[in-house]
Amino acid sequence: MPLRERAEEAALFLDYDGTLAPIVDDPAGARPVPGVPELLARLGARFGVVAVVSGRPLSYLQGALGRPPAVRMAGLYGMEEVGADGVLRRDPAAEGWRGSVQEVTDVLSRDAPPGVEVEPKGLAVTVHWRRAPEAEDWVREAAASAAARTGLRAEPGRMSVELRPPVAADKGTVVSRLGARHPVVGCFGDDLGDIPAFEAVAALGRAGATTVTVVVADAESPPQLLAMADVSVAGPEAAVALLEAIAGG
Ligand SMILES: [Mg+2]
Repeated sequence: MPLRERAEEAALFLDYDGTLAPIVDDPAGARPVPGVPELLARLGARFGVVAVVSGRPLSYLQGALGRPPAVRMAGLYGMEEVGADGVLRRDPAAEGWRGSVQEVTDVLSRDAPPGVEVEPKGLAVTVHWRRAPEAEDWVREAAASAAARTGLRAEPGRMSVELRPPVAADKGTVVSRLGARHPVVGCFGDDLGDIPAFEAVAALGRAGATTVTVVVADAESPPQLLAMADVSVAGPEAAVALLEAIAGG
């Protein structure tokens, strides 16, 4: 695989939930597959760029993964980012929406039916119905009305909807920026939010890069993402095993 043979000139993008960590009922309880922080440090030492790109806030990612050397982290779909220099940057356009996000978080936390999880993320808020499937319609309608009221954008995820600022930041913008000028680009993901990342990888491929997209698949995988992927692995354990092979001994 070119990712292994040409690692020093390659850029590697990794999702967190469903890719490096199994999906669990309580989103706060998602833990990485054992050994992932050490694996990331090894990948960081070998690759031109290694970036964890997630919808989670950076504070969460750093709590779960630590700060493996030479690994970049992009949280909230790139609205927050820690570069190779270790400095945190936030999207100034997104910052202006913090008050609206807080207001929506307060309203949803107050009104959510039992079992619906409201996950505050600072510059975004995610509402999960995994533990209350009967509340799906309530969540979708509450998110749509909050979006209409505030101007925030409602984005669907795995048994969840997220409200986030309507700024031009998604996983694709992160991949385009950090992956540019790398002749080899790889990307691992599992969910709807990874589609823009896979599209950005495809664009780098059309511009001449050698690319590999890996879907971390399970029964809930979006068909669109499955159709875009070069490689499919069954769940985070298999994704991590593949990354171990790429990292070498
Ligand atoms: Mg994911």
